[in-house]
Formats: sequence, C-alpha cells, structure tokens
Amino acid sequence: MRTKCLLCSRIDRISDDDPLAKKLRNRPIHTYTCAECYDRISRKAKTRRGEKQS
Ligand SMILES: [Zn+2]
Repeated sequence: MRTKCLLCSRIDRISDDDPLAKKLRNRPIHTYTCAECYDRISRKAKTRRGEKQS
C-alpha cells in the first residue's frame, strides 16, 4: 500500500504484509510518519524528555 508521511509529505510504499500496513488500515492514514521523520522525532523526544513516556 502507499502511505503519506504526515511531516514531510513523502509518499512511501510499504508491504501489505508489514505490520505497519495493518495498523494503518485500522487507523487514519495521517498517523503515518516515514522512517526519517520518526527517527528525528524520537531523538528530539529523548533529548527533551529523557526516557519518560506518559
Ligand atoms: Zn517524513
């Protein structure tokens, strides 16, 4: 399936067998972030908040 990154609007193709594809089918497509943006966000989050998750 094709999916669009929320942050950079990049179109990514992911396998239908990918667990992520199954998640996206059950959730709005705008929850998707590409690997690059996801990495950027998770690094920022760690820098700001340490390892805390609420
Ligand atoms: Zn992105």
